[in-house]
Amino acid sequence: MRIDNVTLRFGGLVANRDVTLDVTRGEILGLIGPNGAGKSTLFNLISGTYQPSAGRILFEGEDITRLPAPERCRRGIARTFQVPRSFDSMNVVENVIVGGLARHPGAAAARRAAIETLDFVGLKHRADAVAGELTPPEKRRLEVARALATGPRVLLLDEVLTGLTPSEARAGVELIRKVAERGVTVIMVEHVMEVVMPLVHRAVVLHLGRVLAQGLPTEVVRDEAVITAYLGE
Ligand code: ADP
Ligand code: MG
Repeated sequence: MRIDNVTLRFGGLVANRDVTLDVTRGEILGLIGPNGAGKSTLFNLISGTYQPSAGRILFEGEDITRLPAPERCRRGIARTFQVPRSFDSMNVVENVIVGGLARHPGAAAARRAAIETLDFVGLKHRADAVAGELTPPEKRRLEVARALATGPRVLLLDEVLTGLTPSEARAGVELIRKVAERGVTVIMVEHVMEVVMPLVHRAVVLHLGRVLAQGLPTEVVRDEAVITAYLGE
């Protein structure tokens, strides 16, 4: 995937400014930055919720800048939301079936696939629970399961580890590794650097809508501009 000089303005506010970013197939890319840096906005641009004021987004050699969100999902771009968006009144397996509807014709096949996905994320034992009654870490897993049910080639994770206890976060890191081992490219947004640094192959730091730094996690955390941006929060 290539994000090519993308800018998005909300009236006078520039949420993303001249963002250029290459994502390599199979990598786990960390997108970090202080609150309001433009991380979630960039996910909205990649998934098709917003269209940029300028610039292009290329995926597998094609320009997808103006494609509607459902078409991008069909092409293999899936996301989770910073605030989980599962259907609270439905049960867990039904939530996952909804994510996979387009891919699995027939109720039985859709259900089988959903159970498999729940098993993969470690939620199979909660398949019949009401989604609204899940614990916060279980809700994050359900978000991931719903996104995986669409059969993504690229998975965008928006702060799925935020607010978890250290041991829950470690379990989350293991799940993300497992997803990547399946050949899914992962772009993960996190606000707190420490959590993602051991996991990601490469880190990109956004600040005030711009790419402030990128490179190996170990390099990025020592970057003067990055340290200053986080201190200024
Ligand atoms: P992050 O995810 O890095 O914390 P966001 O991408 O959510 O940051 O927001 C970047 C900036 O864009 C913020 O200043 C935010 O208030 C603004 N913003 C985000 N979405 C909208 C919107 N729909 N309308 C107006 N401003 C927005
Ligand atoms: Mg955000």
